[in-house]
Amino acid sequence: SKPAETPKAKVLKVGSETTFAPFEFQDEKSKEYVGFDMDLIRAIGKEMGVEVQIQSMGFDGLIPALEAGNIDVAISGMTITAERAKKVDFSTPYYKSGLSMVVKVDNDTLKTFKDLEGKRIAVQIGTTGAMEAKKIKDATIREFNNAPEAFMELKAGGVDAVVNDLPVNEYYIAQAGGKDAKVVGEPLTSEEYGIAISKKNTETTEKVNKAIEALKKNGEYERIYMKWFGK
Ligand code: GLN
Repeated sequence: SKPAETPKAKVLKVGSETTFAPFEFQDEKSKEYVGFDMDLIRAIGKEMGVEVQIQSMGFDGLIPALEAGNIDVAISGMTITAERAKKVDFSTPYYKSGLSMVVKVDNDTLKTFKDLEGKRIAVQIGTTGAMEAKKIKDATIREFNNAPEAFMELKAGGVDAVVNDLPVNEYYIAQAGGKDAKVVGEPLTSEEYGIAISKKNTETTEKVNKAIEALKKNGEYERIYMKWFGK
C-alpha cells in the first residue's frame, strides 16, 4: 500500500507594505519580514492552522489586491475607515493608533498641526496621513511611496514636516532619525488598525476574528505587544 501523504497546510496569502517599522519591515540580516503585524499574522495563521505567506506591495495596492483575489488578507498598519470599509471587510480592531507630525530637530516654529498651514508636508500615498494633510489650509502636499521616503525628504529639506502614524514616527526617531528630526504636538487623530479581508471571504474574517480572540485570551497578543511596544 502507498504511504499516506502528509496533508499540506493551506496557505494564507498576506499582503503588506513592508517598510512601516515597527509594524512590518525587513530584517537586514535574515531578510525576513518582522514587526508587530508580522508576528501577529503568523500567530493568527498558527491558530487557523494555515501557512502564512507574506507578499510585499505598495500600500495603495493592498485593497485592489484583495478585491482581485490575489491576496487573502492585508495587514499593514491599516486604519479602519468608513471609506475602506465600503470595499473590504475589517477584522476586529487590533491596535490603537493616531497621526502625528515629525519636523527637523532644530525647528522651533512648527509645534501643532495648526502651524502646518501654508507649509510643505510629506505623506505616504493612500494613507490617512495623506487624507488629513490635504485638509490643512494652503499646505503643499508631497506624496511618497512609503514612510522612509517621506522621512528622507524631510532630512533633505524638501519639506517642513511629515504627517504619519505616531508609533511609526516614534520608532523612526528612536532608531535612526533622532539626530535629524523629532515628533511634536498632540496626536491629530484617534485610529484603529484592522486586518482587511475581501467582502467575498466572510469565512476568513470569522476565522481571523476567532484567532485574535484566542490570542488575547491566551496571552500571546500581550506577549507580541510587549515585544514591540513594551518600555
Ligand atoms: N494607518 C495609516 C493608514 O491606514 C498608514 C498605514 C501605512 O502607511 N501602512 O492609512
